[in-house]
This record gives sequence, structure tokens and C-alpha cells, in this order.
Amino acid sequence: MKVIKDPKEMQHLALDARRQGKIIGFVPTMGYFHSGHLSLMRRCRKECDWTVVSIFVNPLQFGPREDLETYPRDLDRDLRLAAEVGIDVAFVPEEKAMYPPEYQTYVEVTQLTRGLEGFYRPGHFRGVTTVVLKLFNIVQPDFAYFGQKDYQQLKVIERMVQDLNIPVRIVACETVREPDGLAMSSRNVYLNPDERRAARVLYRSLEAAREALKSGTTCSAGLKAVIWGVLSREQMIRPQYVEIVDPETLEPVDRVERRAVVLLAAFVGQARLIDEGFLEMEP
Ligand code: AMP
Repeated sequence: MKVIKDPKEMQHLALDARRQGKIIGFVPTMGYFHSGHLSLMRRCRKECDWTVVSIFVNPLQFGPREDLETYPRDLDRDLRLAAEVGIDVAFVPEEKAMYPPEYQTYVEVTQLTRGLEGFYRPGHFRGVTTVVLKLFNIVQPDFAYFGQKDYQQLKVIERMVQDLNIPVRIVACETVREPDGLAMSSRNVYLNPDERRAARVLYRSLEAAREALKSGTTCSAGLKAVIWGVLSREQMIRPQYVEIVDPETLEPVDRVERRAVVLLAAFVGQARLIDEGFLEMEP
């Protein structure tokens, strides 16, 4: 596996691969790999001829009181894991190469970013879309792989790609979970053993909502009450939001008619965790 730091060199290599007719697959990440990242990389490897993973903790998407400084990092381990998956290139740019002092261009998706994560993390998605567009221009992918775990991010990127006519296909990948249901996240390392145990209720609350839907509760107010009920039984959890939204527009729905998605965020100790779960009416 090649490890490339320089954006120009990465772009030259990618343009070369394109000229050779290779299908380029890309997995953008912030590193500190877990099985969620690896599943995206494996799928990318299976579906594309030439695969690139980027590892870049993008300062632009962190708020002033967020965890940029403490975000977990282990580049050597990440490179070893990516090589084991069979990824061709790891792109690991430095901050000064991505955002030199004269940098002044930003990308913004205006509506999908207003609520949910966008409300609690102002500026977050502007940072995400800006870096992802830069990475797309550098890596020139035909296919780019994103996790449903960050559901709003996935929808925001799909919107950007449509709106700006970017020639890349976004591939949505299912959330990979621990055996007890906790969605894998680099931020799970922040949890001490008690908090780790408590964090199980996030997934349990989604399961409880699915059960309630099966038993006939279709109104969002009732389903949200079920979720809050499960979460509030765990003292270590401080939920920030629980919303039931349309899977495409991310607008809140009053009731689940065919398909909706639950999106939630909660603090467990210092860690802020998010999760998602589809609610589907049986035909
Ligand atoms: P991150 O390094 O957290 O920015 O994540 C990089 C990519 O991996 C994003 O597309 C995430 O949505 C995806 N991802 C993170 N956690 C998971 C997970 N548990 N299952 C599937 N994909 C994930």
C-alpha cells in the first residue's frame, strides 16, 4: 500500500489511474479504525479496481468546544489495517496542505444541515462538505463509501453531489455494531466501563421503538416517548435529541406511514454518541 501525504501527488496518481481506465473507489475517514471503517473499505475493495482511503482529522468540522485535540489517533495501526484489507493507497494529508493560510473557499448545503446535528454543531456540515469536495477533487473517485451511522452526513453529501453535478456515486453502507448493539465509533474509546455498559441503551431504545411500531404505535410522539423512556432509565445517559424524520428530507414526521428514520444524539460521560435506526411498516 502506498502512503501519500501530498495532495498534488495524490491527484496525479488518481488521474493516472483514471487514464488507465481503472474504477476508483474511495473511503474518506478520520482514522482510528474499527470494524465500521473496515467494512466500508472491504466493500470498496470488492467493487472497485483501485482503492483509496483517506485519514484526516478535519479541523473545519469541529466546533470550538469539541474534541479536535483529543480525537483518538493511531496512524501506524490504521495503515496496517488498511493494508491488510488490500487498499491501494492511504492518503494522509497534513492540515497545512489542506488549508494553507490563504485558504478561503467553503461549500454549504443550506437546508438539510439546519436541524439535528447541524443545530447542535453549528458549522459542522460546512466543514464536512468542504473537506469531502476537496477530497473528491484530489482522489477523483467513481464510487465513494459512507456509513449510515452518520445518517444526516450521508444525506448532506448526496445532496451536495447532486446539486454540484459531481461525477461520483455515493454508496451508503449499513451501520456496523458491537455484539450488544452499540454502533461502532472511534469515540467509543472515551467510555469508561460503566459508561460503555450504559451506552447499550441507545440501541435498545431504537429496538423498543421498532417493537412499539409493530404493536401499533405509529405516531411519532408515542414512539419518541418510548425511546425517551428507555433512555431515561439509564442515569449516565444525557440525550440531546431524539427525532423521527423522513429518510430523504430529514423533516420530522407526525407518524410513520411507510418508512421513517430515528436519529438521536446523547452524551455518555464526556462522549457524544449518535445513532440511527429505520422504522418500517410491515406491508
Ligand atoms: P469517521 O472516521 O468517523 O469520520 O467515519 C468515516 C466513515 O465511516 C463515515 O462514512 C462513517 O459514517 C463511517 N462509519 C463510522 N462508524 C461506522 C459504523 N459503525 N458502521 C458503518 N460505517 C461507519
